[in-house]
Amino acid sequence: MRFDDQSVDTSQLEDRRGVGTGGRIALGGGATGIVGVIIYLLVTFLGGGGTGEGLPGAGPGAGGSEAGASAAADLAARCNTSGAIDQYDDCFVLKVFNEVNEVWTADFQRGGQDYTLPTLVYFEEGVSTGCGQASSQVGPFYCPPDQKVYIDLGFLRELQNQFGAQGRYAQAYIVAHEVGHHIQTITGTEARMRQGQQADPSRENELSVQLELQADCYAGVWSTLANKAGNVSVSQADLDEALRAAQAVGDDRIQASAGARVDPETWTHGSAEQRKAAFLTGYQGATQASCGTVPH
Ligand SMILES: [Zn+2]
Repeated sequence: MRFDDQSVDTSQLEDRRGVGTGGRIALGGGATGIVGVIIYLLVTFLGGGGTGEGLPGAGPGAGGSEAGASAAADLAARCNTSGAIDQYDDCFVLKVFNEVNEVWTADFQRGGQDYTLPTLVYFEEGVSTGCGQASSQVGPFYCPPDQKVYIDLGFLRELQNQFGAQGRYAQAYIVAHEVGHHIQTITGTEARMRQGQQADPSRENELSVQLELQADCYAGVWSTLANKAGNVSVSQADLDEALRAAQAVGDDRIQASAGARVDPETWTHGSAEQRKAAFLTGYQGATQASCGTVPH
């Protein structure tokens, strides 16, 4: 994949790397990631994390924000040199985040609506969020109350290797999926889905799957719109890579790869085939409306 320009915008970035708060896993508040069952699986099968380890929730305060601002300035300087966006994960993921927001800003404007920009947070190991204290081991996630996408780049790489979803466009799909959750938040879809879950707890997982598949669909819409706008040129190989990534993070694949029983009742994100189909629906439909309404 190629970008139309080679500069990054750090105005929506919080670089909190190096100010981690330990590895507690206590995420709540409606945080929605790309791989929902990873917390449980990693703790159970890979011995990761555990509960209550690490430092108690000493999040980055004002000092952390200042450090974050200067880190962001350093990152901008490094990323805006020739070839850096392809070379470095932090530059690449930020660039994709910029491009995703550019496309959605224009798309919302066409629909006569404002698009509120989300924030991208880079962290390592652990982080304080509007959804609670989180460990890297939850994978990339979006937190609706603070409207931020949280990514530990080192763990993202591990996830990609573990689930066979390597490649730059696979990363782009993951970023676009998380920003898809942001769209669901600012349009009220996420709140409606939560209400639906509270009204009928027996539909909790089913409604979660609907939300996740719609985020996959939005990632597909972004892919086409970015290509059309000339922001990002997407090849057939890129598309194949995104589809492989969407499949790789299907709940059935994740359960099977962790040696767990494949049980659709416990799915929160959808099967490999469902996720692939959702991305393709958005890719071909190329409108927010093509991703349907949730809950349905
Ligand atoms: Zn998700």
